[in-house]
Amino acid sequence: MKTDLKSISADETGAFVKDLGLEAYRASQIRQWLFKKMVTSFDEMTNVSVSIRALLKEKAFITNIEKVKTLVSEDTTEKYLFRLHDGDFIESVLIPEKDHFTLCISSQAGCAMGCAFCHTARQGFRRNLTAGEICEQIIETKRSMADPDRLTNIVLMGMGEPLANYDAVITALNNMIDDNALNFSRRKVTLSTSGLVPFIERLGKDSPVNLAVSLNAGDDETRNRIMPVNKTYNLKSLIAACREFPLPNRRMITFEYILIKGVNDRNEDALKVAKLLRGLRAKINLIPLNPGPEPEMRAPSWDDMVRFQDILAENNYTVIIRKSKGQDILAACGQLSGKCGSQKSEIRGQ
Ligand code: SAH
Ligand code: SF4
Repeated sequence: MKTDLKSISADETGAFVKDLGLEAYRASQIRQWLFKKMVTSFDEMTNVSVSIRALLKEKAFITNIEKVKTLVSEDTTEKYLFRLHDGDFIESVLIPEKDHFTLCISSQAGCAMGCAFCHTARQGFRRNLTAGEICEQIIETKRSMADPDRLTNIVLMGMGEPLANYDAVITALNNMIDDNALNFSRRKVTLSTSGLVPFIERLGKDSPVNLAVSLNAGDDETRNRIMPVNKTYNLKSLIAACREFPLPNRRMITFEYILIKGVNDRNEDALKVAKLLRGLRAKINLIPLNPGPEPEMRAPSWDDMVRFQDILAENNYTVIIRKSKGQDILAACGQLSGKCGSQKSEIRGQ
């Protein structure tokens, strides 16, 4: 079997070149071609001799994904539809911020976690992405940016549950922060999970990136209703894993809380969250529910969201209401479904 060079770590690339009888420096040379110069073929590696290129072609391959559609929102958020080599589709979302861009990437095609409020859940799970496919979303996006250096932040908040695709996600994360590869700051890469507790514990050891947890409820009964994962890993075990999670200086865990009218937006819910997170270095993002697959689920009024926020703020939490971007193109959280294009928005031909 040929080796997928974008889906392996720096060490594994070292072992690969050694096995081929090549000099050790070839490993970082190859990784720079792939991740920095973003080449799509071995023939573009011009400082690698023709005979070594021929050997690489025989023993390895380069993952490329194809951007087949771009949707541009009124607020300039862009959603990309990518086709994978097997014909499946995934999405990424490029979000403009004041002085930089954040790219939201997918870790799986579909998702098996079944959260009641999430569009991706409706598709079910199709397959895990390889580490190369995860990083390729970043590389393909950079290729089309006027100033790729302005892409400084990555969030794994697109399609899929990243911790359910653990090994590929760890390799991808470490290639994102390796200075010989994608070279993002570890402080600017964030993995979001619905709460696969055993993998939260492993993540703390295997990668130094930020953790975000989709909390969405202050008690097990409510969380069981909207997030089936809670029946396996309840709030007690989730919060215990968060308390154990290693946090370097001044870093915090982000808790995302989607506000759903009449489901998790009562004063007592806010008080339960305040109690649950007590003592944790936590910041809380309140997210108004984006229209999801359940038409009867809606976001609360603005005043009700502010009331909820105030209770958490009075309890000394850093808490913001995060306005959704790209709603008009279904690019907002939980709206990714891998079928861009059914909406009425500008479609830039590719
Ligand atoms: N599976 C991971 C990461 C992808 S989901 C997770 O669940 O954390 C990314 C984010 O979108 C999560 O924070 C999730 O809570 C949020 N989300 C899902 N559906 C949403 C909806 N209808 N409205 C707003 N946010 C939603
Ligand atoms: Fe999967 Fe996250 Fe959607 Fe839940 S919210 S179904 S874990 S993508």
